[in-house]
Amino acid sequence: MDIGAAITTVTASIGIAKEISALVKAANKVEALEKLVDLREQLVDAKQAMLDLREENHGLKAALERREALTFDGKVYWMGDGEGREGPFCQRCRDGDGRLVRLQAGNKAGRVTGGGIIQTPIWRCLHCKSRVATT
Ligand SMILES: [Zn+2]
Repeated sequence: MDIGAAITTVTASIGIAKEISALVKAANKVEALEKLVDLREQLVDAKQAMLDLREENHGLKAALERREALTFDGKVYWMGDGEGREGPFCQRCRDGDGRLVRLQAGNKAGRVTGGGIIQTPIWRCLHCKSRVATT
């Protein structure tokens, strides 16, 4: 049974409990009526829990789809392909705690080589403060 079917079943059960409550009330059985009211409240709580789980499940599926759409170029993550791709996204944040943090173009950073200092454009992460050379 998927969660949608479970919610439908619980909703139907709430309706049945309500109908039984009306029948018991007509027969003036107070204790049985109280138990049915308790049952109905429990079913309402169960339905809300299922609705919450369904919403969480949708969020997790969307996150999984986003994760699968990412590619790693050896330095940063990108979403999608070609000119329509989005990003780059921070590797440290993505791999560390699953956050998808867009990198910002930063100033150039100097790198000492045998031929002198080479200025390389960098990406900056505003969340974890890491800096990534673009080349
Ligand atoms: Zn980061």
